[in-house]
Amino acid sequence: MTQLDGKWVRDQILAELAPRVESVRAKGRPPGLAVVLAGHDPASDIYVRNKVKACQELGIHSEKLTPPADITQDALLAIIAGLNARPEIDGILVQMPLPKHLDERAVLLAIDPAKDVDGFHPFNVGNLVNGTPGPRPCTPSGVMEMLRRYQIPAAGKRAVVIGRSDIVGKPMAMMLLHAHATVTICHSRTSNLVEEASRADILVAAIGRPAFLRGDSIKPGATVIDVGINRVADRESAARCGKLAAFEKNGSAVVGDVHPDEVAHAGAYTPVPGGVGPLTIAMLMANTVAAAEARCSV
Ligand code: NAD
Repeated sequence: MTQLDGKWVRDQILAELAPRVESVRAKGRPPGLAVVLAGHDPASDIYVRNKVKACQELGIHSEKLTPPADITQDALLAIIAGLNARPEIDGILVQMPLPKHLDERAVLLAIDPAKDVDGFHPFNVGNLVNGTPGPRPCTPSGVMEMLRRYQIPAAGKRAVVIGRSDIVGKPMAMMLLHAHATVTICHSRTSNLVEEASRADILVAAIGRPAFLRGDSIKPGATVIDVGINRVADRESAARCGKLAAFEKNGSAVVGDVHPDEVAHAGAYTPVPGGVGPLTIAMLMANTVAAAEARCSV
């Protein structure tokens, strides 16, 4: 069984982006990304910090805007309108989830689709569906990079995606379809999940439940892509999820949606952590550079 190394893929992607950042800079300014973080969700704080750090390392100009949790919808829309109008900002990312009183859909709609580096604007969702170039959601496009760089073909294969969220499951299924896989989407109401999953040549788990998929869901030789990032904070759960050693070391453990001790018969597997995780930010950088290149050339 091959372990698919997300850091190896990430480093390749970032190395290829570096000269493209320089080319944009040579035309007058570096690519620019603005990240809007409303309120103080601890997980979001960490994600945003990592995104800003990745920009700094690559020479992308980044700005972090931190309006208070009680910002009004109109005030947030005004911030986005301001960023849409600024020529030196190529990408706008509004960190989700937003505080409950805010309308996430309206906020996403307000972002200029050309600056929508998350690929969540309905215009870009449409572009994904009909195969028009444009920014694509970062996590599933990272998975496609992983498959491509490990030369795992999707064409003609049976792919099963478990999870139907707008940010992972749905765009993942669409990308695999464009790569000529035969795609099945499973979700919380799927009645024969193990049967469906165990037919997959490429199995993508994007569920959000620690070590949920067991060995009986994996066809021998299958490529197993574990998108899940779940934190378990008690000893018993960590032991049940095969993460006791990590728990003993750190006091908590990160576990995917697939039980890590039951993948030995897979052909290839993305570990958690270290598999898909590192790719999401790399693809955000890629989307930002591509947005800058497109905007510099108009
Ligand atoms: P979500 O909660 O929006 O969606 C989860 C999906 O799983 C739903 O569509 C639901 O139908 C399905 N599901 C839930 N319970 C199920 C069950 N019992 N059987 C079958 N399907 C079930 O989550 P999301 O935002 O799509 O994220 C999924 C996971 O991926 C989470 O663990 C999240 O932390 C992780 N994630 C990782 C990255 C990354 O960078 N690697 C990025 C985004 C999300």
